[in-house]
Amino acid sequence: MDYNALAQKLFPEIDKTPDYWEEKYPQRELREGARVTRFAPSPTGFLHFGNLFTCLVSYKTAKDTDGVFYVRVEDTDQKRKVEGAIEVMLKGLSVYGIVPDEGVVAEDTEKGDYAPYYQSRRKEIYQTYAKSLVEQGLAYPCFMTPEELDEIRSAQESESIKGIWGKWAKHRDLTFDEIEEHLKNGEQWTLRLKSPGSTEGKCRFDDLIRGKIEMPENVQDVVLLKSDGIPTYHFAHAVDDHLMRTTHVMRGDEWIASVPIHLQLFRVLGFKPPKYAHVAPIMKEENGGKRKLSKRKDPEAKVTYYAEQGFPKESVTEYIMTLANSNFEDWRRVNQNENIDKFPVNLKKMSVSGALFDMVKLTDVSKNVICKMSAEKVFSLSYEWAKEYCSELAKLYEQDTERATAILNIDRENKKPRKDIAKWSDIPEYISYMYDETFVPCYELTGNATPALAVKVLEKYKDTVNLDDDKDTWFGRIKDMCESVGCTPNVKEFKQNPEAFEGHVGDVSTIIRVALTGRTNTPDLYSITALLGADRVQKRIDNALSHYKEEA
Ligand code: GLU
Repeated sequence: MDYNALAQKLFPEIDKTPDYWEEKYPQRELREGARVTRFAPSPTGFLHFGNLFTCLVSYKTAKDTDGVFYVRVEDTDQKRKVEGAIEVMLKGLSVYGIVPDEGVVAEDTEKGDYAPYYQSRRKEIYQTYAKSLVEQGLAYPCFMTPEELDEIRSAQESESIKGIWGKWAKHRDLTFDEIEEHLKNGEQWTLRLKSPGSTEGKCRFDDLIRGKIEMPENVQDVVLLKSDGIPTYHFAHAVDDHLMRTTHVMRGDEWIASVPIHLQLFRVLGFKPPKYAHVAPIMKEENGGKRKLSKRKDPEAKVTYYAEQGFPKESVTEYIMTLANSNFEDWRRVNQNENIDKFPVNLKKMSVSGALFDMVKLTDVSKNVICKMSAEKVFSLSYEWAKEYCSELAKLYEQDTERATAILNIDRENKKPRKDIAKWSDIPEYISYMYDETFVPCYELTGNATPALAVKVLEKYKDTVNLDDDKDTWFGRIKDMCESVGCTPNVKEFKQNPEAFEGHVGDVSTIIRVALTGRTNTPDLYSITALLGADRVQKRIDNALSHYKEEA
């Protein structure tokens, strides 16, 4: 067989050789050990939380080693293409600080020396390598029709090795004349690998997450180019990751089964294979079992969910690190204020069975992140969020932005800040009593407080409260009034002799707190009182008084 003639017949318009591309896309000049990683999405426009997770780890893997992280768009399936998808996906990543060094950096915009980064623009490159394989007798045109392939599929139902191989690879050894005949008839063809594998052969590799893996060698004559000349994922993966000089391929573990095909392709193409890290999907607990976090069932599977809910990006990235590496939390305890970029991510510590998504944990992580933020930061981030997702909150803020910031500063910027806020959408409820528009009175009392005691306390407090007092003076006045309402300022004393008092200073405070905020548990009441202002304080006490008078 004259393979050169065959190659020329199949790819007449390809005049380049692999050497041309090898020279055009040389080895990268990076320091020893630098890792080149990539995100290779199909342009569906949907960014799954699992994508963000893998991307963040991939991105950090590159950054930790002064390497390169790039984005390649796998758009060979034009039917699945969604307008504006890339913009949505890149924006989703950039929110979390993932900005590619090169590749597709905006819709239709490529940056870097290894372009094009859209697979749909790389047809000539794939075909050059395909042609070269034909020249070497390592690939062949297959003219089997979809019907024939279907028949083989049904005939192979009970076979352990499926696909086109052995006796099923009917066109593997066609003669030049036979091929010419098929071509003359105008028959469609795909290009198949002439697999050099044997059924006894083994494929061994070291997965960076899973460790050593051994699988049967590939024997299938897999399709390299579809009948429209577009490559399959397998072929494009080998050509692209080689020419873009990817060192570490991090991808979903659904690709593990294909590794024997991929390693064989790298071998026949004469490429050094990359290192693989197959990332298990993010799981979710359900009815005592585990299942994959689902795009259809779980709102939190969509990356935009976190922005909509108002989780700050720092919280999400911190949480993702806890999912990625179990030692992250220990590192965080020791390096409380360190930038997360300093945490060295370790692929070997990633879960093989799939990290478990836990909203309670995310909430916890986020509370810890937010409680360390300054009031200004909380204000500005939540205001940005509100402008997009909660106009009611934005309007409240806009009444007086300084007051809003002061409200958010209550019990903040101290040694033990409160942890009430996990996401910006918690704020409207958290601060609702600070605004007349959203204050919902509730006069339920706890402890020893009764409506009758409330009447006495509030009448007294109404006269004594002075918004010019400092905190100690203010609290001093509350203690001082205890006796006159039959309570004791001393909780211990009350406990020793409860019969002698109607309540203690805690009950007195509760009555005031409930009157002013409608709640029994709030941050610092002194600050709240001061920020409510004299008019609101008087009005709310009056309303509470009339309520309790009726009740008493
Ligand atoms: N486009 C492939 C996917 O979305 C990429 C897999 C890979 O990273 O190689 O599954």
